[in-house]
Amino acid sequence: MDTIRVAVIGAAGRMGSTVCDAVEGADDMELVARIDDGDDLGDLGGAQVAVDFTVPDASPGNVAHCISRGVHVVVGTTGWTQERLDAVRRDLLEHPEVGVLVAPNFALGAVLMMRFAQEAARFYESVEIVELHHPRKVDAPSGTAANTARMIAAARADAGLGPVPDATEHDPDGARGAQIEGIRTHAVRMRGLVAHQEVLFGAEGESLTIRHDSYDRVSFMPGVLTGVRGVVSRPGLTVGLENYLDL
Ligand code: NAP
Repeated sequence: MDTIRVAVIGAAGRMGSTVCDAVEGADDMELVARIDDGDDLGDLGGAQVAVDFTVPDASPGNVAHCISRGVHVVVGTTGWTQERLDAVRRDLLEHPEVGVLVAPNFALGAVLMMRFAQEAARFYESVEIVELHHPRKVDAPSGTAANTARMIAAARADAGLGPVPDATEHDPDGARGAQIEGIRTHAVRMRGLVAHQEVLFGAEGESLTIRHDSYDRVSFMPGVLTGVRGVVSRPGLTVGLENYLDL
């Protein structure tokens, strides 16, 4: 079995340090570089794959550097706009052999939750999303909730479903939550929580709830390692871990 040489960028961070432990614990991987803010990326310690868990302002530059060196990249950092993804696609034109995976959520259960919600969407007249997170989270709703809403909205449109029934006329304080492509999305911030989401479906006489809970950031590691193993043989830009899971 060939060993994959891996560099971790943002290695001292909460996610990065957990990734370092996971790579060191994987039989088929070798951790060749721990890179942090202020370090020269250089040749990334001779890595074949770099894993980036840094900050939204730094990640695009790190990815561009890796592509220019012919190093595949697995990216967990958030904040990837369409413009930033388009810049990656342009950089890859010069290096078509390089693979880049950008995954907003590496928790396998979260990816499955989104897929199951997409499958269920066409069968239910009503649907709402509730995401629940720790109170240090700065954005709302979560990227995962927004993504779920968009997937459900597309599935409803494909099935010819109309708007979700809702007679609300007066809601001066926004009690009905945000609307993302017509799907009501609610954000709870609460001490003691980590990252959780429920998708609630309703039809006459029944309901279906799909729920995922992340209790610890180790829950992201099987997905990150799947990304590292997969990216070496998938050139070009891939957005979303679901594309590596053969669902
Ligand atoms: P964190 O603890 O703040 O870690 C970020 C690390 O990156 C810090 O050690 C920081 O160093 C370092 N860093 C900043 N700029 C850098 C640069 N230019 N080059 C190299 N390293 C740099 O944050 P975290 O909780 O690990 O989260 C990191 C990112 O992952 C966030 O965007 C978060 O939203 C995302 N995330 C994604 C998933 C997913 O499943 N996709 C899951 C969890 C978190 P200094 O502190 O010295 O600046």
